[in-house]
Amino acid sequence: MAASAGAGGGGGVSIIMPKCSVCDDDYQSHGDKAPDQLRCGHSFCAACVRGLIRHHPYGRRAAKCAICRAATAEVDVRPNHGMREAMASLLAIRMQTVSLPEGTSLTRQEYYGLLGLLGDHSMKLQSIYRASRDGTTYDDLLRCVCDKTGLAFIIRKGEYVFGAFISAGIRLPDDPTDTNRYDCDVWHFSLAGHFAQPTKIEISRLAQYVAVAGREGRVWGAKVWIGGDLWLGDGRGSGRPAADIRSCYQSTDRNEVPEGYVGARNSYGSALLGGSFFFDADEIEVLHVGGQ
Ligand SMILES: [Zn+2]
Ligand SMILES: [Zn+2]
Repeated sequence: MAASAGAGGGGGVSIIMPKCSVCDDDYQSHGDKAPDQLRCGHSFCAACVRGLIRHHPYGRRAAKCAICRAATAEVDVRPNHGMREAMASLLAIRMQTVSLPEGTSLTRQEYYGLLGLLGDHSMKLQSIYRASRDGTTYDDLLRCVCDKTGLAFIIRKGEYVFGAFISAGIRLPDDPTDTNRYDCDVWHFSLAGHFAQPTKIEISRLAQYVAVAGREGRVWGAKVWIGGDLWLGDGRGSGRPAADIRSCYQSTDRNEVPEGYVGARNSYGSALLGGSFFFDADEIEVLHVGGQ
């Protein structure tokens, strides 16, 4: 374990987090990436320790240390409480070093959680659209997003904060009355209200696409459809899109809901991230993550 703090770019302080020496991922204070200790004194993340456990010749299951090869019976593997507490402190310090994008609706904790899901806490995102600031129509959204790619849509409804990442931008069809459907990397996420911590919601390969309406067109009865079943500017079954982009429809198939979900569900077990199928978001924001 080695933690060091050095001067980062721009005068800020960057904290290099202690990593598990087996998988090279940063340690966390709880969960699969929290450190577990073996009898030899070496620690690895809980997931890697599970991977080190083998049937021992004497019939007991034991973990063989990845560094010194000493065996620890499975029953003797313990959470490394001291190191877990130290990680909680380090993570809290690092969260304070992150600078929020100007004008974002996200709290520090939510923004920090999003950076974690994107896999890089040193990234700097830009808030390029907010319905409450820039206007609530599809045209307002298009004007602000322009041709930027790498977009995180943030949707806030009461205590729920969630959204979707799309690697592409909004690619309008040539004919404004038409629809454009295109493949890109798509995943959903929760930042608050559904899990104990910010959580990525992976969606099936088959649903990795986005469909957008031209300025005068529609995608079924909405303006934007993001794979994994998120609809913006949804007309509530009227067949015509809503003028307000904050009119949403969302559901996540129960097979794609990660463990630990405590938010709303329908009778089939699908997760309703906004609390119900149809809802009017309090806020929609788009963050520019950067192109690929
Ligand atoms: Zn590990
Ligand atoms: Zn060891």
